[in-house]
Amino acid sequence: MKVHHLNAATMCPFGGRLIAGRGGLLQRAHMVCHVLLIETADGLVLVDTGLGTADVAHPVKRLGAGFVAMTQPRLDPDETALFQIQKLGFSADDVRHVVLTHMDLDHAGGLGDFPKATVHLHAREHEAAMSRRDLMAKTRYIPAQWAHAPSWKLYDGEGEDWFGFSAVRALSDTETDILLVPLHGHTRGHCGVAVRTGAGWLLHAGDAYFHHASMGAGPWTPAGLRVFQALTDTIGKDRKRNQERLRLLKQARGREITLFCAHDPGELDACCAGHPL
Ligand SMILES: [Zn+2]
Repeated sequence: MKVHHLNAATMCPFGGRLIAGRGGLLQRAHMVCHVLLIETADGLVLVDTGLGTADVAHPVKRLGAGFVAMTQPRLDPDETALFQIQKLGFSADDVRHVVLTHMDLDHAGGLGDFPKATVHLHAREHEAAMSRRDLMAKTRYIPAQWAHAPSWKLYDGEGEDWFGFSAVRALSDTETDILLVPLHGHTRGHCGVAVRTGAGWLLHAGDAYFHHASMGAGPWTPAGLRVFQALTDTIGKDRKRNQERLRLLKQARGREITLFCAHDPGELDACCAGHPL
């Protein structure tokens, strides 16, 4: 099994150090969409998809003018997961499974580039995205991103204990250990995705936090990100509780578990270099 850490979209919002934690106020910040490509005996597994080729080609129509203005995505076709997977010598159909932390537009955007993949996610998240009950849900969940009607595989219930978290085993018919770890709050059914590798566990925490310093012994989060995460919370108290549980997990088990979120460029660089933060 081989794991690739990829950036499947860069966002360059205004706000400088209020977002990135360093640099000038007028500088652009730099946020990535950290996805995992896992080579398994059962084909390729993609964890999150970033923005897809259709999002990059038609950003305002697909993602909405508000999202484009706020996040200032780079919109580079070479950053799509599809392009990077092809560059590695694979085809779209080699991606047999996609596991989603949640269905926000910057995580589900590439689904349509892998139409034959089974899409695995928490049942609560699927229900929230399909029903789009309020204005926030209508903004963050984009039906065009799953208009190809993928084959969904939904998970619910308590599952098994994983380092004190309840986790549900996904892809249980393969030899790869991939678990959905419910970390609800950012969205209704938001999960982390845990992957066992030869060197320990990876935990992709999605948008459960946004900056590596939030997981430190003396945690802090840049002010702009604090506002952003509060604005995008679905259930704020659950998000805060889960963020603290993750922080304690990292402090206690950081040697066995490599923890990273979706949008921190420093964490992505460190994972790519083989020296996680
Ligand atoms: Zn996100």
